[in-house]
Amino acid sequence: VRVTFTPIHRREFGIIGTIAVLQDVTEQEKLEASRREFVANVSHELRTPLTTIKSYTEALEDGALQDQELAPRFVGVIQNETERMIRLVTDLLHLSRLDSKESPLRMQQTDINEMLDEVADRFSFQMQEKGIEVRVQVEDGIHQVWFDRDQIDQVLDNLISNAMKYTSGGSITIRAYLTDDGILAISVEDTGIGIPKKDLDRIFERFYRVDKARSRNMGGTGLGLSIAREIVKAHGGTISLESELGTGTKVTFTLPVEMKGGHER
Ligand code: ADP
Repeated sequence: VRVTFTPIHRREFGIIGTIAVLQDVTEQEKLEASRREFVANVSHELRTPLTTIKSYTEALEDGALQDQELAPRFVGVIQNETERMIRLVTDLLHLSRLDSKESPLRMQQTDINEMLDEVADRFSFQMQEKGIEVRVQVEDGIHQVWFDRDQIDQVLDNLISNAMKYTSGGSITIRAYLTDDGILAISVEDTGIGIPKKDLDRIFERFYRVDKARSRNMGGTGLGLSIAREIVKAHGGTISLESELGTGTKVTFTLPVEMKGGHER
């Protein structure tokens, strides 16, 4: 609370009273602080690849370009860093569109079985390479659902690529089921490295990572979970994460959307 005191003067009597104004600024200040932190984070995240690109171009200019072995390696680094920046800017634009509610949801009827199989197929090659087994389980009676398919696809993409990034060997299970309230829930569960308890509270924050270096090495932008949360929120749903260090992680989101049973197909 901000308190301001303003004395009231009367020429003949001097100060005759005081006006006290109490203002609740906590919300406003919190918002302002998180905005400042976000801008600082964005600048830092963009600066890191730019600095790398700059020093590698300079090295090429200083002679590495003539070196048959060094030149392609340096160009490779520059390419990687450029791709990271493109991913980062794409994610930022997506978040800003979600924030401004500019892009309305484009609901379409979707077959959950088909969609989850398609998502799992997309990752199957990488999963095989990492020795991860992927399972898709859809509860009986869930078939046609209405939601923004592209956006939910993005949520699944983010969750599954995280599960894959932070798991080696073991399995990833994607499950669709109905909660006790009859709401559609989708979960992505892995048997990976897990997340320490102290980080769980902040894990959905923009740019928050358990291990910055590891996330960067894996090509992460630190925005995947926050984008997932915004999309789920736009659908009126909730998203939560449970994790046990060294055992695995499970992210579950709900979608209170119109659903049609299998017999109506
Ligand atoms: P990133 O691009 O770094 O993966 P995210 O927003 O998707 O960003 O995730 C934030 C952080 O949460 C990650 O850096 C990682 O530390 C942690 N994390 C997310 N998903 C998992 C998971 N399935 N297993 C372990 N850690 C995870």
